Amino acid sequence: MGAIQDRDQSVCDQCRATSLTVRERGRFDFMSRLCDRCWNTLANEMAEADGATAAPRPTLDPDDVTWVEPPVCPVCGAMVGVYRTIYDRWVSLAMVELPAKDVPEPFRWRLARLPDLSPTPTDIVAVRVRGIDPLPGDPVVPAHRMMCVPEWDEP
Ligand SMILES: [Zn+2]
Ligand SMILES: [Zn+2]
Repeated sequence: MGAIQDRDQSVCDQCRATSLTVRERGRFDFMSRLCDRCWNTLANEMAEADGATAAPRPTLDPDDVTWVEPPVCPVCGAMVGVYRTIYDRWVSLAMVELPAKDVPEPFRWRLARLPDLSPTPTDIVAVRVRGIDPLPGDPVVPAHRMMCVPEWDEP
């Protein structure tokens, strides 16, 4: 390492390795420079903690106007909204918003638009509501997990 920083060499914030795969990861308030390996580990940990373990939705051809069936939960059969998270994992959310007071903290999500990263204005990502507590009446989107009842589990 010399006194002059080589701007073309990127060092991973996590493992300190210099790698060509190091780039900025995450969106909005979550940003760090990570290599592929560290990013995948981190994203998997976040997905595990958030319950963002839904199967990804297929990429839709914007020119294809055929109606796409809304996704359903494989466990209870209810309609769910499957959204990409800021760390490129997918989560099943309820189709309705609820006041924050009715949703336990681990299940609170919000949908946000990605203004500059996407060519399609409909690109919406799911963001976990954490850190600041929303007002009791603030609408949040509950994770589908909160209301999911397996059919075989009914009394
Ligand atoms: Zn790394
Ligand atoms: Zn379900």
